[in-house]
Amino acid sequence: MKELVQHMLLERGVDLPDIAHLVLALQRPFHPRLTLQHCLDSVLAVLEKREVQYALLTGIALDRCAEQGLLPEPLQEAIVSDAPLYGIDEVLALSITNVYGTIGLTNFGYLDKIKPGILSKMNHRSPRVNTFLDDLIAGVAAAASARIAHNGAEEETGAIMSEIVGAESLC
Ligand code: MG
Repeated sequence: MKELVQHMLLERGVDLPDIAHLVLALQRPFHPRLTLQHCLDSVLAVLEKREVQYALLTGIALDRCAEQGLLPEPLQEAIVSDAPLYGIDEVLALSITNVYGTIGLTNFGYLDKIKPGILSKMNHRSPRVNTFLDDLIAGVAAAASARIAHNGAEEETGAIMSEIVGAESLC
């Protein structure tokens, strides 16, 4: 299913390195040696999660149906116009960021507000509907970024622990 999700993203104009660039921008200030490849690996790890895959499939399907005028009103109009009070696109994306806890949530809020990189290029003009997709991409980038933050913290704890253990064995 991961391959299907990647294929659907590509079809909608989103390449995984585009998402990795968002992750790099978010995490570089905290991890100066972080590379684009690390970020890409983290994006791929996030895409392994079944609930992330379902969130992406659901949102992309709704964008597509809206493009084809297939949804019942008032949903059709709300999604096509990306109505500010609709908000379910953000809620669906939060199911992705929640996988990695509160840091994911903060990252998502930042991306949603600033809209860097690929997020600024997403075309919302008719006939294209990306109401769900932009939030889902921000959600994946936020989760991949949180994952790096968590792994970094674990490595740091590991280093401190081995220092303590090393020091104790000298006593
Ligand atoms: Mg949206």
